[in-house]
Amino acid sequence: MPSHLIIAIDGPAASGKSSVARVLARRLGYVYVNTGAMYRAVTWHVLASGVDPADQSAVLSLLASTTIECDIAGHESAILINGVDPTPNLVSEAVNGAVSTVATISQVRSQLVALQRAYGEKSNSVMEGRDIGSAVFPETPYKFYIDASVEVRAQRRAKQGLQDSITQRDKLDSTRRTSPLVIAEDAHVIDSSHLTVDGVVGEIIGRLKIKGLLPTEF
Ligand code: C5P
Repeated sequence: MPSHLIIAIDGPAASGKSSVARVLARRLGYVYVNTGAMYRAVTWHVLASGVDPADQSAVLSLLASTTIECDIAGHESAILINGVDPTPNLVSEAVNGAVSTVATISQVRSQLVALQRAYGEKSNSVMEGRDIGSAVFPETPYKFYIDASVEVRAQRRAKQGLQDSITQRDKLDSTRRTSPLVIAEDAHVIDSSHLTVDGVVGEIIGRLKIKGLLPTEF
């Protein structure tokens, strides 16, 4: 068991989970941890180093000589790759197109999962990703799976002006061998297709109260 509370929020691409996790963390005074950013940061480094993301042994030998530091800045997770903050590059078309390939590599996952679990020793967190409730913190009773229709998710990305082949990423994320995107057995599923961010956050807080997992003042 981690020494702090972890609220796990999983779901497919563009389901709205990042916005929900950030607002929820702020309301509860918890740290917001974006695990997708970790896979994206590694992918950016792979591409920037001229390594083929599909060449698993080349990716792993690059990572063997790479320093990845995860910390907390302003109540949110922050990552440095060899001392460089990759944040401005994380939602590029190139990273969107390669990240799910890099995320299939089980040794990449085990390295990042160890860093994710370390947050559980630092602070109460709302952690979002694909496998947080199913594989990273399977013992947490605070599990949510946020979904939305493919049409709504594609519209959300288009509104953000981002090129992102979400159906291709979903397919790779759901069919990979190690920790695929699944709905954890004890997760509470929320369809956000017709809900605002505040609507989803309200449903999560209501659910946590019903289960006796949050003090009533929230
Ligand atoms: O959440 P986001 O869309 O930024 O995640 C980018 C990609 O990182 C996902 O499509 C998936 O391939 C990978 N990922 C993962 N496991 C996580 C978080 C993200 O495999 N916990």
